[in-house]
Amino acid sequence: MLYANLEGNPIMNNSVYIGLGSNMGCKRDNIAQAVALIGAIPGVNIKNISSLYETEPWGKTDQDKFLNQVIEIETSLPPKELLRELQNIEIKMGRQRQEKWGPRLIDLDILLYGNEVLDDPQLIIPHPHMRERLFVLVPLAEIGADLRFPDNGATVREVLSSVLAREGNRGIERI
Ligand code: ATP
Ligand code: CA
Ligand code: CA
Repeated sequence: MLYANLEGNPIMNNSVYIGLGSNMGCKRDNIAQAVALIGAIPGVNIKNISSLYETEPWGKTDQDKFLNQVIEIETSLPPKELLRELQNIEIKMGRQRQEKWGPRLIDLDILLYGNEVLDDPQLIIPHPHMRERLFVLVPLAEIGADLRFPDNGATVREVLSSVLAREGNRGIERI
């Protein structure tokens, strides 16, 4: 992984996938605003954007439905700097309830960061629950079905197929 060339200029060589979710307020506007703010981070270019999906809440099911989307960016920011920028956007947009898996205006998770594997409590990559979540795998497969997980080499398409075989295509609708 390279972050700068010999002249110190950033190199945009890291392809990163970010999962977005919202289940409060105007969800569609929240997602659109977050995408715009991510695109405005210095050192970030947006490469690809999935459709929007309306999804049933996962983990904590007594809450409103979510809208989810996955985007691909390229960035010169190292993983933890990118996470800090994403958390700043969550705060700037007014995310207050920090309850895990609870309702939120906006949630921005780093799903995949190039071929990095990180196991730090603050930042785990690939995202620890993404392989069980249709609301991540379905939009991700739309823009990156042939991507391989850096830890076991499975493709997104393969992981999605196994979850669909187990659970069926429930609780997720492209809008
Ligand atoms: P989940 O992580 O299961 O999707 P969540 O999004 O509700 O749950 P949060 O409350 O948003 O969880 O985040 C809790 C912490 O997770 C963050 O403070 C962050 O440090 C950590 N974290 C670990 N790995 C990641 C990652 N890949 N992307 C974003 N945050 C991460
Ligand atoms: Ca999340
Ligand atoms: Ca999160």
